[in-house]
Amino acid sequence: MQSTDWLGEPFASKDNKICLERKVAKRLLYAAQEAFPYEYSALLVGRGAAITDFISMPISLDKHAFSWDGPAFLQAVGDIRKRHLQWLGVLHTHPHTAPIPSARDAAGWHYPSLSYWIVGLAADVPDWRVYQWQDGRFVARDYTLTDATEVADTSSADSASSPKNS
Ligand SMILES: [Zn+2]
Repeated sequence: MQSTDWLGEPFASKDNKICLERKVAKRLLYAAQEAFPYEYSALLVGRGAAITDFISMPISLDKHAFSWDGPAFLQAVGDIRKRHLQWLGVLHTHPHTAPIPSARDAAGWHYPSLSYWIVGLAADVPDWRVYQWQDGRFVARDYTLTDATEVADTSSADSASSPKNS
């Protein structure tokens, strides 16, 4: 009866920094830049503290109004549950301003266990920030970019006699 298993807690472990796969970050940035000058938003999914995929939300032509209760959101949650993943956070862009949560961002956020990402696109270099909602305000957090581990077991392989990618 784990009906809320799909709702993750990426900050639950003090030892594990929240992490984002590099290729996922790349794809997110691409989608964000495609949406420019409009705001882009996505749900971030994965397991534990590791974000391994995302689901884009419809681009709103009304610049700062994505809603987390519409049909697209409910469909995304259904998708997350079907794939036995967890919802770990949200990401949206600030196309013209710094990646600082706005008053509206704070008012519209109802999932304190999740990570809240903002990518600022106003500067030459995209500015990634991640926040956690704590004690009534957004607190900036560290994160790590990881490379997906395609092959889990390499330690026992005879690496000396089987060179790869050479
Ligand atoms: Zn915002």
